[in-house]
Amino acid sequence: MSGEFVSGLKCRLCGKVYPKEALNFCTEDFGPLEVAYNYEAVAKSFTRQAIESRPRTMWRYRELLPVDGEPTVGRHVGGTPLIRADRLAKALGLRELYVKNDAVNHPSLSFKDRVVAVALSKAVELGFETVGCASTGNLAGSVAANAAAAGLNAYVLIPDNLEQGKVLGATIYGAKVIAIQGNYDHVNRLCSQIAFRFGWGFVNVNLRPFYAEGSKSMGFEIAEDMGWRIPDQVVVPMAGGSLIGKLHKSFKELERLGLVSGPVNTKMYGAQATGCNPIANTVKTDALRVKPVRNPDTIAKSLAIGDPADGYFASQLIRDTGGWSEDVDDDAIVDSMRLLAETEGIWAETAGGVTVAVARKLIAQGKIDRDASTVLCITGNGLKTQEALIDKIARPVVIKPSLAEFEALVGAESPELVATEA
Ligand SMILES: *Cc1c(COP(=O)(O)O)cnc(C)c1O
Ligand SMILES: [Zn+2]
Repeated sequence: MSGEFVSGLKCRLCGKVYPKEALNFCTEDFGPLEVAYNYEAVAKSFTRQAIESRPRTMWRYRELLPVDGEPTVGRHVGGTPLIRADRLAKALGLRELYVKNDAVNHPSLSFKDRVVAVALSKAVELGFETVGCASTGNLAGSVAANAAAAGLNAYVLIPDNLEQGKVLGATIYGAKVIAIQGNYDHVNRLCSQIAFRFGWGFVNVNLRPFYAEGSKSMGFEIAEDMGWRIPDQVVVPMAGGSLIGKLHKSFKELERLGLVSGPVNTKMYGAQATGCNPIANTVKTDALRVKPVRNPDTIAKSLAIGDPADGYFASQLIRDTGGWSEDVDDDAIVDSMRLLAETEGIWAETAGGVTVAVARKLIAQGKIDRDASTVLCITGNGLKTQEALIDKIARPVVIKPSLAEFEALVGAESPELVATEA
């Protein structure tokens, strides 16, 4: 593989082209930069047959991931299960439902390993030895884990109110974890200053154009696992609003390269928590600009970005595809975490509860078609957000190691099971 597939970076507003460097905004108009591909070169080797012959990791789609040489970081990321979720489908009243389960992504149990694998492989190519991120939790763990495995120095900046599982899940890898007294938007602003001042590679700041492309691998996997089909409806949790756009881009790229039959008419549905709903609010009020949420307040901390970098593009995409966006409160989030666990055996983090609860709400509103194929994106693992459940889930019953006590317990609930043979 060589650098022939990526032609450069391109401004999403004015189209100005830049070389492949650590830069995330246009110097003319501050528009966000996006990776530009040479699709003719890609088409030569990016075929169903070639892809299917490669290992089941995100790198089987490497022509459309912006790393010039062989990937050096996160080589085992991706290849997570797409599950036909019939029991959840029945509970929700849907005909054809799938769960894409990135709660079990390697190595750090969230979809962030996809974006970090690309960003850090690129960071190595660009010669960075110190990397960092501004994180709402999952990115912290992913940068810390992948940087450790690659021998890079990592600085991880987080808001000071994160769940213990997210904090421990970053410090264990030896990264410098710094908690900022403030919310994510304060953290992000500081990281922009640090990246500029110290010349480090911040995955979601100056490396953001490369980082964001990693999310496409989730969409490629969904399409391939559906038998090279594109789903009719996808429900996606939104923080900065990047993932939802890249999923749609991945479907359009497969169409463009002839790997799926078009046209792609997927409706994109964005999910947020009511306590931090800047993008959902933009869609619901048909506003043009995203109004930032100043003080996010939700148990879905991984989605708590009050001023989302890609909020404008996400809200436009949702409208353009005929989808919709909703937000749900903390009780609905917990109820839906439980529903997913009880029907499909998947323990998702709070963001997964947001996704399932928003799907439920949109089905009730008639905005999601019960007869169309639907994918729910589960992006993080429940082990990391235990605080959200600790007072909401039944404690185990305690008994002595005695058969009589056990029989009394079961008998109280199901007398027929302990009916004595007289
Ligand atoms: C980061 C994250 C997302 C979505 O992030 P975007 O910024 O919208 O791309 C979704 N779910 C979880 C669990 C996350 O950590
Ligand atoms: Zn520009």
